[in-house]
Amino acid sequence: MRKPIILGNWKMHKTLGEAIEFIDELKTRELPKSVEAGICAPFIHLSDLVAGSKDSDFGIGAENGHYEDSGAFTGEVSIASLADLGVDYVIIGHSERRQFFAETDEAINKKILKSLEKNVVPVVCVGESLEEREDGSYESLIKRQIEKAFMNVTETDASKVVVAYEPIWAIGTGKSATSKDANDMCKFIRETIKELYSDSVAEAVRIQYGGSVKPENITEYMAEADIDGALVGGASLEVDGFIALLEGA
Ligand code: PGA
Repeated sequence: MRKPIILGNWKMHKTLGEAIEFIDELKTRELPKSVEAGICAPFIHLSDLVAGSKDSDFGIGAENGHYEDSGAFTGEVSIASLADLGVDYVIIGHSERRQFFAETDEAINKKILKSLEKNVVPVVCVGESLEEREDGSYESLIKRQIEKAFMNVTETDASKVVVAYEPIWAIGTGKSATSKDANDMCKFIRETIKELYSDSVAEAVRIQYGGSVKPENITEYMAEADIDGALVGGASLEVDGFIALLEGA
């Protein structure tokens, strides 16, 4: 029942010219209707990409956003202004933001609440480090990240959230989690959401896996019962690769 969702996360890649070229090319291609597709890009590209993807079969997302609507926050971009621009998704709490920009669970929660208020789909990232995987603390960590992310999110809104399980050790390393390990964690996240809300919310929430997903391994992940899509960095940077991901899903 859950529609699979594949999102590209371009991170700090591509000039505006390269970004527009990608979108223009993608628009000419036939995309599988069974999969929801989107590209998350740097802020400065979003205005052009939203305009360029009009009447297309894919959406456009931001990679971050601020929970305040406006104010003295030099260098930040508000989720309110992203919504005004017509952005469909916003990635929230990516491990690179938690790690390099000291993003806290509290800030992540506020961003999720603001995205829901503004009708932008929040794609909230959770995941453990290699150390936490090896010392066995990963389940309690993920549970805590999920509980804090969903704080004060209403039952109606909860099912609109997309969760991306991204083990930090698998991001950009070429060292992907096995499909079974990834599914075990997506299932664990779904059970956590069930405890917080209900069976129906848990069954409706889409949970992606992310971390070195590529055309060669996407089908294996998607065959798992609790994996509803993927958040893809490196392999989403080329049009052919991105389409291969959608087709493989
Ligand atoms: P990767 O990145 O696909 O390059 O591992 C995934 C992500 O960080 O979202």
